[in-house]
Amino acid sequence: MTPFRYIYVDKEELGGCILPAQFPGWEKYETTDLFHKTYSVKWDLRFLRLAKEIASWSSDPSTKVGAVAVDKEHGIIATGYNGFSKKNLDRPEDYQDRNRKLMQMIHAEENLLLFAEKTRLKHCTVYTYPFIPCGTCAAKLLQVDIDRIVTIDNFPERWIDSFNCGREQFADAGVIVDYYPAECLNV
Ligand SMILES: [Zn+2]
Repeated sequence: MTPFRYIYVDKEELGGCILPAQFPGWEKYETTDLFHKTYSVKWDLRFLRLAKEIASWSSDPSTKVGAVAVDKEHGIIATGYNGFSKKNLDRPEDYQDRNRKLMQMIHAEENLLLFAEKTRLKHCTVYTYPFIPCGTCAAKLLQVDIDRIVTIDNFPERWIDSFNCGREQFADAGVIVDYYPAECLNV
């Protein structure tokens, strides 16, 4: 298992609007110089905020997930959020029956894949909120050759096996996963 690559966000990069004292876990987030040469914290946070906004569109009352695929020029290729199919009648009882809900729920990443032109996803970064893609979505994202995942440092215990399965697949494939603290989205 590769170690987490946490992102250190310093106040200069965010225009001086974050003070370390505001974040209890501040010291945890560190990056190398290579990160700053290759990626932009400013753009990462913009797209993570967008993924959060898209997550809010989900009709699922308990779990709302958003995903955004972005190319090297910061162009948005596709978005997705979790939900039932467009043919579903969206009955409230379908959300209450957990087994049924899980069987017919399309994950945010799956919707992103269904809506995108497959060839345009190659070498994209995929932003997911509020957590890393699950094990089955990780496999599908790898199948279209994405380069990187950017997400939130958040691992709800009930899905930890699936998140670990996703992390292991990304690590095996050499796909970078960068984690930001959720507090970074509030600025
Ligand atoms: Zn999934």
